[in-house]
Amino acid sequence: MADRIRIENVSKWFGDFQALKNVSLSVKEGEVVMVIGPSGSGKSTLLRCVNRLETVDEGRIWIDQDEVTDPRVDIRKIREESGMVFQSFNLFPHLTALQNITLAPIHVLREKKASAEKRAYELLERVGLKDKAHSYPAQLSGGQQQRVAIARALAMKPKVMLFDEPTSALDPEMVGEVLLVIRDLAEDGMTMMIVTHEMGFAREVGDRVIFMDEGRIIEENVPDLLFDHPQQKRTQDFLSKVL
Ligand code: ADP
Ligand code: MG
Repeated sequence: MADRIRIENVSKWFGDFQALKNVSLSVKEGEVVMVIGPSGSGKSTLLRCVNRLETVDEGRIWIDQDEVTDPRVDIRKIREESGMVFQSFNLFPHLTALQNITLAPIHVLREKKASAEKRAYELLERVGLKDKAHSYPAQLSGGQQQRVAIARALAMKPKVMLFDEPTSALDPEMVGEVLLVIRDLAEDGMTMMIVTHEMGFAREVGDRVIFMDEGRIIEENVPDLLFDHPQQKRTQDFLSKVL
């Protein structure tokens, strides 16, 4: 299988502070890579570099053939290729669920309103919210808002989906419904990088788990091996606190 995301020797500084230290990682087509690690280890920064919300200082990143880190790259194209879902749902509060989903397809992809809406209804059905098309974000629960945010990202037909702690801001009873949608995407073959604190989910849905600490990838493995037989002391210490 071809690499969908390729990260090569990426380093990133914020002033004097080095947030990423020579990180390399490839994600194959259809692969689900879970990224775990303590707060401040660089997980969000890594995801943000992949879709050019941050620039890198060293190294290179590709999504398929497009070099994200090329200064001349069309950032809009990169953002279309990589759907990002954040911890805070970031829906437009003055737009309905349907309008949130169709906004970019209509204005960025120049889709016709009718076809964009047709797909939006399909996506809402897929995330279990067909009856909420005309609800505003404030009328939806956190879990429902996050599912709309996922549908909105999918509406751009991304090649990869990037999730940054998609359930961390949710009340516990809403975590499951969001994870179910992501699991469904995984089964459908979507290529994904997912930063998560949900270790059970990482084990079940991940093809591979990356453990980061202090800006480095410390260890990576298939989930069962990483969780049951971590090789590095730092991984062992982290897992002993979170499992
Ligand atoms: P994680 O997602 O693993 O919690 P982050 O990638 O958000 O970690 O952050 C890694 C480190 O980089 C942290 O120490 C954080 O404070 C720092 N950092 C992140 N973004 C910025 C920024 N825009 N300016 C300065 N420091 C930042
Ligand atoms: Mg983070």
